[in-house]
Amino acid sequence: MAININAYQAVLSQLKPFSAQLVAVSKTKPLEDIEAFYAAGQRIFGENYVQELVEKQAALPADIQWHFIGHLQSNKVKYLAPFVHTIHAVDSLKLLQEINKQAAKHQRVINCLLQVHIAAEETKFGMDEQELQQLLSWWNNHQSELTHVRIAGLMGMATNTDNETQVRQEFHQLHQLFGSVKTTFFNTQDYFRELSIGMSADYTIALEEGSTMVRIGSLLFGERNYNQ
Ligand SMILES: *Cc1c(COP(=O)(O)O)cnc(C)c1O
Repeated sequence: MAININAYQAVLSQLKPFSAQLVAVSKTKPLEDIEAFYAAGQRIFGENYVQELVEKQAALPADIQWHFIGHLQSNKVKYLAPFVHTIHAVDSLKLLQEINKQAAKHQRVINCLLQVHIAAEETKFGMDEQELQQLLSWWNNHQSELTHVRIAGLMGMATNTDNETQVRQEFHQLHQLFGSVKTTFFNTQDYFRELSIGMSADYTIALEEGSTMVRIGSLLFGERNYNQ
């Protein structure tokens, strides 16, 4: 077991002054590793793969708050709807509507974060500003049809680069967009308050740029081996 409880405690104390939450990203990691962080007090865990999350949820304590942070296909929403707390990477109206439909079947409300593309790489998912505006304008006129999803904020991934200035700029831009979306669409809705930015390599920058939720994996669990 290569988990790092010291790093966990250090991250928690770094988050404290910002009142930010930690999503411990446990993808590809065994149950024992999650149980060890659970024993240390962690309750929010993030996963990227539907099948893996479904299996882990069934095997682990019921009071874990599961966050799905990966790219989600509409046809798989039904597997997560019974239990998932927050879905971080909602990148289309179609997906939002499907989450609403599946959550309704379980009489649940699922928190959704809208993923915005901020990185220079083409490969990262997410909406551009125009697509985000379109989705929100639609939502603004159809809120009453979407009572089983709660748009709780925005999510983004910075470019994978050592260039801190670039990473900071990308986070900064998303924070500004968050502010304008808040003012325009969610001024009176307290639940729109999350900015999910920051991973192992860049979470300290993300905190300085307004993160309320960092998603940290390898720093806590060790490097991932996808071939095991
Ligand atoms: C894997 C993953 C993380 C965690 O990445 P680390 O670099 O291991 O901290 C965070 N966010 C998303 C969307 C991920 O897929």
